[in-house]
Amino acid sequence: MTALIDDILQRAADDGRISDEEALLLYTDAPFHALGEAADAVRRRRYPQGIVTYLIDRNINYTNVCVTACKFCAFYRAPKHAEGWSHDLDEILRRCGEAVELGATQVMLQGGHHPDYGVDYYVELFSAVKRAYPQLVIHSIGPSEILHMAKVSGVSIEDAIKAIKEAGLDSIAGAGAEMLPDRPRKAIAPLKESGARWLEVMEVAHHLGVESTATMMMGTGETNAERIEHMRMIRDVQDRTGGFRAFIPWTYQPENNHLKGRTQATSLEYLRLIAVARLFFHNVAHLQASWLTTGKDVGQLALHMGVDDLGSIMLEENVISSAGAKHRSNLMDLVHLIRSAGRIPAQRDTLYNHLTVHWTPDDDPTDDRVTSHFSSIVNV
Ligand code: SF4
Repeated sequence: MTALIDDILQRAADDGRISDEEALLLYTDAPFHALGEAADAVRRRRYPQGIVTYLIDRNINYTNVCVTACKFCAFYRAPKHAEGWSHDLDEILRRCGEAVELGATQVMLQGGHHPDYGVDYYVELFSAVKRAYPQLVIHSIGPSEILHMAKVSGVSIEDAIKAIKEAGLDSIAGAGAEMLPDRPRKAIAPLKESGARWLEVMEVAHHLGVESTATMMMGTGETNAERIEHMRMIRDVQDRTGGFRAFIPWTYQPENNHLKGRTQATSLEYLRLIAVARLFFHNVAHLQASWLTTGKDVGQLALHMGVDDLGSIMLEENVISSAGAKHRSNLMDLVHLIRSAGRIPAQRDTLYNHLTVHWTPDDDPTDDRVTSHFSSIVNV
């Protein structure tokens, strides 16, 4: 067994392709240090300068009204619920303006599946943001929102994507992937589209020139094999499109929702998954650690397990914080976290171009206004 694991680790560290069975064996049985060392070897070869990137953006939730009622979600309110809200366009533009003022390069517009929001709503939203702030990249919504708007408007997925791309959408967030295999997905989000449908929307978008990221929410009772299956489903699409820029696993937050009693993934499970993801996704460029859900310590450890990106300093985040993620940070903390891991921090844009590399501590940012109200999440 040890020789077999060594062989798989070596092949993966050399950028060879490993099967899902091999990935599962590494996940469950490989020694922790050997797993991390192999993943870090891949990271070093791909990013030999030792740079770890971060992004400044703002996540603006436009409505919490949603008809999909995912059991793990503490954010949504059913239509007509007294605590339901929607922000008007002026408020959304005001928040975009604040983000630009604080140096954000990207906005993530995310929200519930409002029964009245069809393609026209998103066309108006994206075109208004682009008109007012052409410098802001709109990396927003996800396949679930696209399916919802297409259904409300009675148009095809393709036509919906073309319309919102034309209006200003630059790329699609990896939101809503949760767990893609049928069994765990039905258990936590029975009204959401299937994993296959989520991937189909991504594939259509990629073919239309709209790239995206991919996420995974772990810790709601799925098996180890289902975690690997989730990654295989994404890798298969990536083989055909090359449109996923990054893989971003994060841990389910167990408060204030209908899945009480389920455990979160442990830090060790998360770190092992991160390392296996780096070895398995030979065809995905970037691997991001979610320090909002795991905490900064685990986020820093992930930098030694193959991670090259720490996602965003977010200026607003309501969805995951509603479910209990309480980690906070500001830009200076995040940069310090990267530097004290022995890496070089760099601010990036949505396309992973380096905007500012902080080669020495003298180059570090000093703007402590850039902070998350609740902290950062997956910049999906
Ligand atoms: S996760 Fe998204 S789709 Fe599911 S209930 Fe929450 S807001 Fe609605």
